[in-house]
Amino acid sequence: MLFPDVNLPPELPEAVGYAQVIFNRPLTTVFTYAIPEELQTEVVAGKRLIVPLGRGNAQAIGFCVGITDVKPEFKTKFVTKVIDSDPLFTPELLKMTQWLADYYFCGWGQALDAVIPAAAKAQAGSREKDFIAAVPEPLLPIATPRLSKKQAIALQYLRDRPGQHLANLVVEETDCSLAVLWGLVERGYATREKRRVETHLLPAKGLPTQQPLVLNQHQQDALAVIIKQLEAGGFHSFLLYGITGSGKTEVYLQAIDHVVRAGKQALVMVPEISLTPQAVQRFEARFGSVAVLHSHLTDADRGSHWRRIATGKVPVVVGARSAIFAPTANLGLIIVDEEHESSFKQEATPRYHGRDLAIVRAKQEGIPIILGSATPSLESWNNAKKGTYTQLDLPERVSGRPLPPVGVIDMRHEKLPPGPYKAISPSLESAIKQALAAGGQVILLLNRRGFDTCLFCPDCGQTVKCKFCDVAMTYHRGGKPKETSSGPQTASGYKGEQRDMSGLAVCHYCGYEINPPKRCTTCGVGSLRYYGLGTEKLEEELAIKFPGISAARMDADATKKTGSHAKIFKAFQNGEIRILFGTQMIAKGLDVPTVTLVGVVYADQALHLPDFRASERTFQLLAQVAGRAGRGDHGGKVLVQTFHPDHPCIKLAVKHDYRTFADAELASRSLHQFPPSARLARIIFRCRDAIRVQKAAERWGLLLQVHLPKGIKILGPAEAPLKKLEGWYRYHVLVLSGSVKTLHGTIRAVQAAYETIEGVEITVDIDPVGML
Ligand code: ADP
Ligand code: ZN
Repeated sequence: MLFPDVNLPPELPEAVGYAQVIFNRPLTTVFTYAIPEELQTEVVAGKRLIVPLGRGNAQAIGFCVGITDVKPEFKTKFVTKVIDSDPLFTPELLKMTQWLADYYFCGWGQALDAVIPAAAKAQAGSREKDFIAAVPEPLLPIATPRLSKKQAIALQYLRDRPGQHLANLVVEETDCSLAVLWGLVERGYATREKRRVETHLLPAKGLPTQQPLVLNQHQQDALAVIIKQLEAGGFHSFLLYGITGSGKTEVYLQAIDHVVRAGKQALVMVPEISLTPQAVQRFEARFGSVAVLHSHLTDADRGSHWRRIATGKVPVVVGARSAIFAPTANLGLIIVDEEHESSFKQEATPRYHGRDLAIVRAKQEGIPIILGSATPSLESWNNAKKGTYTQLDLPERVSGRPLPPVGVIDMRHEKLPPGPYKAISPSLESAIKQALAAGGQVILLLNRRGFDTCLFCPDCGQTVKCKFCDVAMTYHRGGKPKETSSGPQTASGYKGEQRDMSGLAVCHYCGYEINPPKRCTTCGVGSLRYYGLGTEKLEEELAIKFPGISAARMDADATKKTGSHAKIFKAFQNGEIRILFGTQMIAKGLDVPTVTLVGVVYADQALHLPDFRASERTFQLLAQVAGRAGRGDHGGKVLVQTFHPDHPCIKLAVKHDYRTFADAELASRSLHQFPPSARLARIIFRCRDAIRVQKAAERWGLLLQVHLPKGIKILGPAEAPLKKLEGWYRYHVLVLSGSVKTLHGTIRAVQAAYETIEGVEITVDIDPVGML
């Protein structure tokens, strides 16, 4: 397996040890390389090496995952070079990625490569620099060479200041040149050393400015249990189930304080979109220095944060999904806030779930973990019910504030005015007017961006679809205006509308854009009608219905520029913006006491998606956005527009009744053997060719039948809900089992027996979150 047949030249040096190396490929094999004497001290587990690979001995980059003295029985090649001056990962991280690779079906090297930020690999934000130090006088040779005047001055400077000095600094201070200094080194008066220094300084953070708050009884009770566990030591999982505004964060902060005082580090994971400057400031105000890891950092920033964590310089790390790989040396506690968020799952190889990996890491490090949410995932809720997690409740909002009352607007019976603007019903409109008149602020949720969500041909009945994906394109007016505008639009009431050509039709799945066609792209005859409601259309409606009221749209289009998200939030927080409307981005984290009305424009939007979590997601989103209302002294309420007021999910969300919802949903999942009552794997097949992909999926399906042990359930193979994406035809099959071991074993058996069909890519997604 490991090149025993390679002819090695006879004059090879003796090996001083053997490095175990893995590569960034979908392999599980560990390769062994001999370490030459000159690299003995440099080769360390955790560094990247350059080694010859394969018959051609092409130089390849590999990760050193271990070192051994045991000489292998086969002939080994030699390590060519060591890339990193310091290890990139700790032994613990190594163990975790090994687990990850095994559990999520990817190569160990692929997992390692993905978890170490490119910035850390490139050592972005740091540079090798020359340092110089005087040789102590007793160590100088008896007959010392003569020095020039400048050299003498520089030497005196160094002798007055024992220790290493940045050469460039000495040059500046003594008004000499580098050549003068290297002259000192040459003559034996000084030593020169290369060292890596931070060239990119993160803005200095001050000392803590905020004292802990006095906890209410529920917070105290929860904290006491956590602290008891911290003191006892060892792994334990807590589910902190606290309604919106119940002060979960304050419990985290005080638990972290306990950990930091004990000289350990704490890791806080939050969903990417909740990682706002305000959120980070809450931690900085309490702990001074906080390292932040998320996807919008510059390389230099990321590299610097990464090294500050690795060297133990910061006690608290706050980050999104990938922060689970933060190289903390002495971790004492992990917190996953909003643990139900689907963004913790990575939708590309390695397809890990940040929350689940956090549990694994806490277990490996023998420390407690807190999962917090107002609407826990059913997975975590189930674990708490079984007693695997200890549940801690914060059932009330702080300062005795009630949850806001939620009213339902039944859109089947609302009398909508004629004309194109139908997002805001008369009932919602008058509530907004009232709220504004009383000086309050308003949040409106509409989880769909763009202007019209459907371009429809009344002649042939087709919609305009993306040519790469099997999905309807969305009309965006915010797209670049075109010169060739064909005049003003004609609004034609209920029959859909025609649009001018100033916008763009966009595919929300692959980003493909076209000028909006005038005629149907299928039949070529019908003139297209534009239907459906997106945030851009809502924007127009708000401008017409509430003239002179400042409103801001918050969605992926409006927040493309770095910092724009924070800017809008800030303007809303200080009252410059009266109405904030947009997609789920507005549902999280906002703690604005003057928000007295939250309106949900279309609550049913995600209710009918082909996903077994559709109800769960809808409930979570409604609860989150409702939680933005009534956080101040003026109270607040929520209005939900729906066509399905009798759907259990809507009914229970309106009553803030998570428990009943969760228990009923658990029962239904259990009935259908869906997670969390079973483990699910989704095998996704894709190919440029529609026939081949079907064949591959069917072949897999047949093999599954052959290898089917007891207790496995299969759904499919079938076309994926998105049967074409980015030009790839897609199939999937779902495999369910009560036992992870059985599930893994079955998939491995099928993988081994499967005969490849060229051009078909197969992805194994364990515990999938995306089902489309
Ligand atoms: P959650 O994370 O549960 O939604 P937060 O931790 O954001 O709630 O708390 C909501 C608000 O209540 C914050 O402004 C916070 O500063 C405040 N708060 C939290 N705990 C207390 C307390 N014990 N006394 C007073 N205010 C508190
Ligand atoms: Zn597309």
